[in-house]
Amino acid sequence: MPRRTMLLISLLLGLFALAPSLTAQIPPAKQNPLLPGQNAPGSAGCSTTEASSCAQVAAKLLPIVMGPSPMEENLRQLTDEIGGRVTGSPEMAKAVEWAVGAFRAAGVDVHTEKYTLPVTWSEGKTELVIYEPFHHPRSESSKDIMQIEVDTPPMRVVSVGWSPPFPVSTKPKEVIDVAYGSDEDFKRAGNIRSAFVLVHSDIGSTWPDLLNEYLRPPSVIDHALKEGAAAILWMGSRERLLLYRHTNSLSGQIDKIPQVIVAREDALHLARAVAAYPGKVHAVLSVPNKIGGPIEQENVVGEIRGYEKPDEVVILGAHLDSWELGTGALDNGCNAALVIEAARTIKATGLLPRRTIRFVLFSGKEQGTIGSYEYVKAHSAELDKIRAMINFDSGIGRVTGYSLGGRRDTEAGVREVLKPLESWGVNNHTYDASFGSDNFDFLLEGVPTLDATEEEANYLPNYHAASDTLDKVDMRELKLHTVIAALTAWGIADRAEPLGKRLSRAELDVLVKETGLDQQMKLLGYWDAWQSGARGRKP
Ligand SMILES: [Zn+2]
Repeated sequence: MPRRTMLLISLLLGLFALAPSLTAQIPPAKQNPLLPGQNAPGSAGCSTTEASSCAQVAAKLLPIVMGPSPMEENLRQLTDEIGGRVTGSPEMAKAVEWAVGAFRAAGVDVHTEKYTLPVTWSEGKTELVIYEPFHHPRSESSKDIMQIEVDTPPMRVVSVGWSPPFPVSTKPKEVIDVAYGSDEDFKRAGNIRSAFVLVHSDIGSTWPDLLNEYLRPPSVIDHALKEGAAAILWMGSRERLLLYRHTNSLSGQIDKIPQVIVAREDALHLARAVAAYPGKVHAVLSVPNKIGGPIEQENVVGEIRGYEKPDEVVILGAHLDSWELGTGALDNGCNAALVIEAARTIKATGLLPRRTIRFVLFSGKEQGTIGSYEYVKAHSAELDKIRAMINFDSGIGRVTGYSLGGRRDTEAGVREVLKPLESWGVNNHTYDASFGSDNFDFLLEGVPTLDATEEEANYLPNYHAASDTLDKVDMRELKLHTVIAALTAWGIADRAEPLGKRLSRAELDVLVKETGLDQQMKLLGYWDAWQSGARGRKP
């Protein structure tokens, strides 16, 4: 931390020293865009020949972001007062109001765009009662198994998001341990018909671990369904009894089989009992989830119009929704607040970019990036003119660069834009491409995407968990990220040339193969829609 402080101060001084001589190159806000001469080469921008104007803009952004700002209070209200905000819930509606109010307070034009979420979902009182041979019923007077008092350890458990309900008061079913749920594991486990299958997991600490938490379930679910299991009990992948919620249905539809997450320590206890008494451990499960919908939901869109090419657009986006066991601070409240703060900051510089910058807060992300998919569909006519989609969705670890979604052609432009922040170590970009956040459907449409790459920091231990609360957010780091985000959006919007072209379907076909995105899409059920052209750029 001391090192970063030093860098920041030296950068500030350096930029202020640069600024006066360059002032005339920046078009002032509210200048009539139709005035002749304003579009003269070198008037603004962050292309190779105009890099100095990015430095000047960075110098203006920095003190605004680092100084007194409403961001911290905005984020407190979103997390502590509104709390977890599952798309389709009343809290989500409050979060949309919060975002609209925050954009307005920043002086930024804002509107919402509606779409239909196919299904709403909320958890009831999920319970898992275990019957182990070494725990004897105290009373067998009742025929209703739920009434029998059993001296059994409590199982701390939550439903998986968008899991179908599982009926209460059924007979105890055998618990069968299927290890990690590979093909061989299922073969070894034998007949799992009508049983609860317990699936192991490891503690995740890296981004690839997290990716794996999503890539592994589909084949486990397929096995469980085909072989007639009653429900899946996923072992928690976070320690200390911490509960969290995922969804394994990435379509917004209710999943195909009931699933719960069992707190890691409880699941390990259960696995030991099953190993010690094969065939003799039973359980009763109750998952009274409430299903409703369809329901209208909204994305929130702030906008600063460009003075020269207002119909060309750069999007800075983050999702506003969250799971609700915690208050969605790291995922993704901090970055929702960042997007609004970036808009406030750019507005406060008094400068206008050449192209329009849109600040989009998506909903429906946790159900499978539904909101951004709907946004892309609704804006299909202007995708040729969306010059970039910049996405922040990885918590509060230090930003090291952007994942450029399989593209090398956009790197030089991004490096140029971020040159003023070079000493922060933010110019280490990667060419990987992945599903999983709101840049995904833009990428599939050939739009240049930049997904902020951040160090893991405290993201994974708190991921989607009850512990994802405001105290986990490092506000100073969030402010630095805001500078990075605002400069990136500004620089791409203001450079003379577009950052990169929109890729054709043929180019995208090569890209998805080269990056392995094709394998991810096949595993997660996106492939058929991509192949047929129902999702992504039409063949
Ligand atoms: Zn997220």
